[in-house]
Amino acid sequence: MSNRAQHTIARTVTVDGIGFLTGADIRLRFLPACVNTGIHFHRADLPGSPLIPARHEFIVPRQRRTAIQRGRAVVEMVEHVMAALSALEVDNCVIQLDAPEPPGGDGSSQVFADALLHAGLVELDCPVKTLSVSHPVAVGDANQSIRGLPTGRGGLTIRYSLDYGAASPIVPQVHEVELTPATFLNEIVFARTFVLEQEAVALRAQGYGCRATAKDLLVFSPQGVVDNELRTANECARHKLLDCIGDFALSGHCLEGRVEAHRSGHNLNAEFVQRLMSTHDAGILRSRHKAA
Ligand SMILES: [Zn+2]
Repeated sequence: MSNRAQHTIARTVTVDGIGFLTGADIRLRFLPACVNTGIHFHRADLPGSPLIPARHEFIVPRQRRTAIQRGRAVVEMVEHVMAALSALEVDNCVIQLDAPEPPGGDGSSQVFADALLHAGLVELDCPVKTLSVSHPVAVGDANQSIRGLPTGRGGLTIRYSLDYGAASPIVPQVHEVELTPATFLNEIVFARTFVLEQEAVALRAQGYGCRATAKDLLVFSPQGVVDNELRTANECARHKLLDCIGDFALSGHCLEGRVEAHRSGHNLNAEFVQRLMSTHDAGILRSRHKAA
């Protein structure tokens, strides 16, 4: 089991960019936070500057992204920021925003990871909150599923497989990683969001993504990637794995175990977190064992 100490960042760092949904120029600031704060989004542009805890209790339903809401304050597309924070072991941080979404970057977690690495980490005097998968947990169906399995040792391994059928321009692919800051930076951080061409057209018709082009994220036509090149042959599976890391971070815990996801998306990822939280005595079980 992980006994590592909690971390925060050593100093405030800024990420500027364009929002994928709003098309607005957006500034994000990562601020240090004290022990046991967890991760909070801060809508500094709204009256009263509301804070929204980055936790599964605040997830609101969306298609193809993860959003959290408290009162009337919403933050859309939290997953790529959350993946960077979680994988780089930043446990306590306030994410200040002047818009209802983070900057989109290139559709991966790269801009956020670069900023956090630039900030550096500070160790805090308290162990991280761990949730160890102690018995098998499964959500979904034959079409899409997530299974959590105990491993009896520390660390988190995630395997993601996708298969959209023979007619899809996205070929069946798999990626598996034993997650550490190093493996995240080497294998996952750069994997970009992808959409099918008809989805991109539909999103634009709804007023989304007006400043995003096929050069900014991966768009697949029936013939393959439009105006762009894959960074690795299985970039799509790696991106979906990145999304899992970000969505699982909304448990508010450092997960341990093995997770096998097949074709899962944000809604199923959220269901998996809810199932884990409701079937596991997060953290409490362990301290009881310790006390015994
Ligand atoms: Zn994503």
